[in-house]
Amino acid sequence: MSTGNVVCPRCNENSRIRRNGRSTSGMQRYRCQLCLKTFQLDFYYLGSCPDVRQTILEMTKGGSEYKDTARTLGISLKTVIRQLKNSRYKVN
Ligand SMILES: [Zn+2]
Repeated sequence: MSTGNVVCPRCNENSRIRRNGRSTSGMQRYRCQLCLKTFQLDFYYLGSCPDVRQTILEMTKGGSEYKDTARTLGISLKTVIRQLKNSRYKVN
């Protein structure tokens, strides 16, 4: 079964990607047969999406309060702080 233009976020492989069931929230998951990692492209909860960390960082550097960032993005305050810590941003 072809998965179209799904690309592995780790190794950028796009021809050996297989569907790998669904996440608990019902999103399609994929498995890369090259690096054997599983991943998903769509997230029910935005806080789980890898791209959201960059948004959080930019909002924080732009002077947004953590709780405002959380509310704007529709994620929890804990997620905001965890993502900032993971990005090695100095959390006050
Ligand atoms: Zn891969």
